[in-house]
Parts: sequence; C-alpha cells; structure tokens
Amino acid sequence: PAAKELLLEVDKVRKQFGGLVAVNDVSFQIHAGEIIGLIGPNGAGKSTTFNLISGLLPLSSGQVSFRGQAVGGKPSREIARLGMSRTFQHVKMIADMTVLENVALGTYLRSGKDTLQALLRLDREEEKRLFAEAERQLQRIGMGEQMFELAGNLALGPQRLMEIARALCTDPALLLLDEPAAGLRHKEKQALGDVLRQLRQEGMSVLLVEHDMEFVMGLTDRIVVMEFGTKLIEGEPAVIQASPIVRAAYLGT
Ligand code: ADP
Ligand code: MG
Repeated sequence: PAAKELLLEVDKVRKQFGGLVAVNDVSFQIHAGEIIGLIGPNGAGKSTTFNLISGLLPLSSGQVSFRGQAVGGKPSREIARLGMSRTFQHVKMIADMTVLENVALGTYLRSGKDTLQALLRLDREEEKRLFAEAERQLQRIGMGEQMFELAGNLALGPQRLMEIARALCTDPALLLLDEPAAGLRHKEKQALGDVLRQLRQEGMSVLLVEHDMEFVMGLTDRIVVMEFGTKLIEGEPAVIQASPIVRAAYLGT
C-alpha cells in the first residue's frame, strides 16, 4: 500500500512546571487513518502532552507539526481551524439543553468568539448551518434518535459520543480524545469503539489517551506508553501487551 500521509509530528516535546518535568522530550508521529493510543499510569504526562499538541499549553521546548506546518506556540483555536479537534477528560455540556443544541452550540464556542455575544448576534443563516451540521454529525455516529433529548438525561456513554459529534463539526483530520472510555459500561465502550473504527474507516486519525488497557488493545493501530513524563516504548498492541517494561510500569513488578 502507498505510504500514508504524515499528519502529526511530535518532536522532542517538553513541558516543565517549575522544577517538575511533566513531559520530557517526547516524540511520535501519527499518519492519516491511524488510531494511536497514549497510555501510562496516572501522572505520566498524557493530558499535558495532549494540551501541548492542541495548543492549550505553551511548549517549554520541542516542536509540534501538523500537516507539515509548525503549530507549537499557535493559539488552540488556530490549531483547531487547521483540522485538529479535541475533547476533554470531563464532559462539558449544558444539561438542560438538547443534545442537538449542545452540539450546534459547541461548534460555535469552538470558533473562539465571545459566547453570549456570539449567540445574540447569530444570524438565521448561520444558525441554520450550525444546526444542520450538528444534525449531520449526530446522524453520522448513530445518535440521530437522541437529538432532542436533554443532554443531562443521557447516560455517560452517549454523553461522550455527543462530545465526539461536537468535535466532528469542525471537520477535523485528527481527533484528540482524553480518556473517552473512563467510567463507561462494557456496552458503552463497545459502542464508542465502533464509532472510532467507523471514523478511521472514513480516513480520520484519532489520538486517544486511555487508562483502560483492554479498550486500547482492541482498537488502536499503535500505542505510545508514557511513564514519569518520558516515552517508555511505542509499538503495535501485541508488542506492547507482551512488553515486560510496560508490565513493570503498570504493575510495579
Ligand atoms: P496524566 O494525564 O498522564 O495523568 P498529567 O499530564 O495530567 O498526567 O500530569 C503530569 C504531571 O504534571 C503530574 O505530576 C501533574 O501533577 C503535573 N501537572 C499537570 N498539570 C500541571 C500544572 N498546570 N501545573 C503544575 N503541575 C502540573
Ligand atoms: Mg490525564
């Protein structure tokens, strides 16, 4: 098969918080159509790495390139506009608005304008366009039936899917998901996995931080393991699963 497009290059990325090196010269790459897992014990530096990639935190050193363009130091909304979209470890939603409204609104919030001002000035054409796109993305991931439910009434699994629909509205090439399976029931994890496989099939790339080893093993093309801010090892799921280094990091043996 032809070589896949290099989408994201994380090159010796480093983040220090005072004396603490939270991310210590970490490098890895993501190609188009890959699902990459970023795993490691609590405090390993996974979320910080995410925040460095998506522009939420400034780099101490190193570089992040997205589609061949250096994005380190660019504001997160500009990086988002280039085709990178993310979700957060905790679901962000307005509980007494519908799923559709939450997704449509989220797109608008992501455009970076002042929320209330933006809502008040939203013209009819733009409003229509936002809701049409939100509906399209909810249908795409199989949530068409739940569009008019109140977001607060959804179980955690569908709430996470709602967040993914919201992230999809900006038409990203790369989706960053921070612990999307945390707290989900087995069936919900399966549904989430199915959605992510479908997106990969459609050519999208996904980087997911995950604590749940089993979920990551069954889904990803490649896994990057972090511990104490450094990259321990990178490889295909089977290689990672068999690695004594990884076992030691997780089980302390
Ligand atoms: P993970 O997501 O793998 O659990 P984090 O990236 O959240 O790990 O954290 C890595 C380390 O950096 C931890 O020791 C954490 O306490 C520290 N850390 C994270 N964010 C900050 C911050 N804003 N200020 C100071 N220390 C931080
Ligand atoms: Mg984290």
